[in-house]
Amino acid sequence: MNIYNLIDDICQGYTPTKEEVEALLCTYEPSYNSYLFSAAQAITKKYHDNIIHIRGIIEFSNYCRCSCAYCGLNAANKKLKRYRMEPKEIVETAKEAYDAGYRTLVLQSGEDLWYTREKISEIIKGIKSIGDIAITLSVGERDYEDYKQWRKDGADRFLLKHETINENLYNKLHTHSNLENRIRCLNNLKELGYQVGDGFMVGLPGQTLGDIAEDILFLNRLDVDMAGIGPFIPHPHTELKSAEAGSNEMTIKAVAITRLILKKVHLPATTALWTLNTEDGKKAFDSGANVVMLKVEPYKYRRLYEIYPKNLGNENSIKQERLRMEELILSLGKQVAQDRGDSIKFLEGQ
Ligand code: SAH
Repeated sequence: MNIYNLIDDICQGYTPTKEEVEALLCTYEPSYNSYLFSAAQAITKKYHDNIIHIRGIIEFSNYCRCSCAYCGLNAANKKLKRYRMEPKEIVETAKEAYDAGYRTLVLQSGEDLWYTREKISEIIKGIKSIGDIAITLSVGERDYEDYKQWRKDGADRFLLKHETINENLYNKLHTHSNLENRIRCLNNLKELGYQVGDGFMVGLPGQTLGDIAEDILFLNRLDVDMAGIGPFIPHPHTELKSAEAGSNEMTIKAVAITRLILKKVHLPATTALWTLNTEDGKKAFDSGANVVMLKVEPYKYRRLYEIYPKNLGNENSIKQERLRMEELILSLGKQVAQDRGDSIKFLEGQ
């Protein structure tokens, strides 16, 4: 198999097989890697015009009913101090983020049923009354009727990662649920007209390169609007505490290959990448990523939203942090989006 021809063919619209994606993932030669990254960058430039979207994320509750084996928020972690932001406080944070320039807000939490269908509706309406802000919900697996109501209330997007498409591995890591239900939720969200964000982790214990190839091809089959691909990071209060972290290099390759195949998709340089190494966050912008998410909730909550360990650095205002990211993006020769950054596919379909 000629890797260079394969990359060219995918750029021209050819959909690779699992074996071909696997071959792309496991070739380590530097000249090949730079060819892959430049091809991914060229596609990003063509479809996304070198513009990076900065999204604000409000991590509003760290209560969780689930027991995901990798996640620090899992219900069995008794060492974590739990918090919930009141709907009013969430809307106030959204207003501050809007004033700082944010036009997309991601509302993320553990799976916390304290936030009933009605409470989430109230939050969506409160944020929508501030101005033209796109809302992405990321609150896990809920009933079809919940998703339906929130879409009616004005929620635009939903982020729910499939985490790993290897069914045995998925079900082992999520004893409270199963892959089938995860995929059912993703299909429901699509049917309801959400812009759907999916994604997966790289380097989960037991995951193979073949699994990662299948993960990428699954994103293509589901025809997602966004995909968050991040390295697994072990958390000391989980059963995977002694496992090795996923590789940033492999993660960036997975992002680049995803960009070659799903040209119009939004691809974040995920927080997990930046957490392991700031340089790799930047590198992702030169390898297919066109989105970045910054936390905007008060620091007292950020410290407790510990899905994996991370150093939060010095406290700054939402505005300062956004400005710093804007400067970084400009220094890389890219521009900062000023609009909501809806999915290209979604806009074309309207
Ligand atoms: N409850 C929501 C949000 C989950 S946390 C939901 O179920 O969708 C958001 C994402 O963090 C997860 O989808 C997972 O991909 C990632 N994550 C969780 N623990 C992680 C870890 N230890 N290392 C890397 N990523 C992790």
